[in-house]
Amino acid sequence: MNTSDYLSVPERIWSEFDGAPGGTSLEAMCGELFSQQLFNWQEFALAHMNMKGAWLREIASGQHTLLVQFNQGRTVSATAALDAGTIRRRPCFLCVYHLPDAQKAVLYRKTFLILVNPYPIFSPHYTVVHVDHEPQGLDRHIGDLLALAHDLGPAFTVFYNGPRCGASAPDHHHFQVCPAGIMPVEKAWEEVARETPIADREGVAFGVMRLPGRSALCVEGSAPEALEVFLKRLMGAMGEVMGSAEEPMLNLFCTKKEGRWRLLVFPRRKHRPDAYYREGEDSILVTPGAVEMGGLLITIREGDFLKMTPALAEEIYREVSLPPEEIDEIVNRVK
Ligand SMILES: [Zn+2]
Repeated sequence: MNTSDYLSVPERIWSEFDGAPGGTSLEAMCGELFSQQLFNWQEFALAHMNMKGAWLREIASGQHTLLVQFNQGRTVSATAALDAGTIRRRPCFLCVYHLPDAQKAVLYRKTFLILVNPYPIFSPHYTVVHVDHEPQGLDRHIGDLLALAHDLGPAFTVFYNGPRCGASAPDHHHFQVCPAGIMPVEKAWEEVARETPIADREGVAFGVMRLPGRSALCVEGSAPEALEVFLKRLMGAMGEVMGSAEEPMLNLFCTKKEGRWRLLVFPRRKHRPDAYYREGEDSILVTPGAVEMGGLLITIREGDFLKMTPALAEEIYREVSLPPEEIDEIVNRVK
């Protein structure tokens, strides 16, 4: 697939955002796409309605809050086989040719297609798919991430799942978008993060937010170039500490508010917890990605939804996250 492929299926493009001054805002374009898809794509409307009616409960984890959602619509994504062989054999569901007939897109700066997520967790929930079939990777797309958060504005948060920790299409680069402020970790950021700055230089503030069972590295700044340089250095340090030649395992949130970008990075050491592979009562089908690390646990079976406790959540977090001493080591290398 190459960049001109979307041009050969023009009926796929609902609208185009090119950033021209005075044009329709990206927020408005996405809102129009969302309404259009609800009216014209029956399967999506049904999936969205089911999600809106999904059970949701709040559990307290220390001074923090976790949310648990029972969402059977996520079954395919949560249980997807992600080994290289399976990925190679299946048709890529993010390539423009394989999208359902009723699916439309906002063409974003001729680089990404913004789509409604057909298996939503949020309302709205968008998937932002690169126009090329190229592997999931953050390094080459930090500028795109910052631009997207800027163009979407403060009402939205962009999130990213590394290819080995939550991305259900590791072979096709994509981001996702949810309403800003909906993730428990964003509330924790407001209340806690500002108390723990470690370094503030070259216009980039950096700190660690300790949460039950996991830590988030917090990065904030108003200059995109400085942020990109810092994030690359941070990923380099993570790779050294984690002993990884590939992209270090991570999930990330990014939002832009009051002129500053805020990023939360969750370093990971494992994709799925052992309990995922157990049988019987000890089994729990949770596949942690950015959403789960951010404090919203998606369960696809009623039993898992009911049995989730703060202690169980914390155990899952501890298992899939980098231990505190390695977080400290990353901090020492970048500060
Ligand atoms: Zn693809």
